[in-house]
Amino acid sequence: MRWGVFLDRDGTLVPNAHHPTRPDQLKLYRSTLPGLKLLRGSGAKLLVASNQSVVARGMLSEAGLRAMDRYLKQLVRQGGTSLQGAYYCPHHPDFSRACACRKPKAGLLRQGLKEHGLKAGACYMVGDSKTDLQAGRALGMKTVLVLTGYGRSVRSAALRNKLADHITSNVYGAAKWILRDRALTKV
Ligand SMILES: [Mg+2]
Ligand SMILES: [Zn+2]
Repeated sequence: MRWGVFLDRDGTLVPNAHHPTRPDQLKLYRSTLPGLKLLRGSGAKLLVASNQSVVARGMLSEAGLRAMDRYLKQLVRQGGTSLQGAYYCPHHPDFSRACACRKPKAGLLRQGLKEHGLKAGACYMVGDSKTDLQAGRALGMKTVLVLTGYGRSVRSAALRNKLADHITSNVYGAAKWILRDRALTKV
């Protein structure tokens, strides 16, 4: 069966930087490649879903955003695995317009599902913010909160609101849980 894992970028795959606009601000966490390899080795489509309001704020062009995306994919490729897609919301309601793609809305995830022929029920959303979990939940995906990035500050709210199916230290922990969960829930 086709299945997929959506991953937030900042605070999940790479450490948070304040409004990152340059490729050299993207450095993978040590847990990222082992986690991605584990998931990819089990046949998951790996899809990035990321809010990048730096574009709406006028700090980065669409071309600049694409350059950062190319760099991220290159880092992952050099590390021996690959991302199958990446979806970015360039908007921000205060600087551009309201949109249907900025997480916690589910537009980015919906686009990824469509382009890869995936069902939400066969997908997971991994991120370090409440909005990541909310976007996944909106479509009925299982959600994993990682404690990198903003994860630690989000943890209690995620628990209180039951936003996460699992909470773990990083992307590698998320990958291990996801594979266990799939093994348990497969009929
Ligand atoms: Mg994040
Ligand atoms: Zn948007």
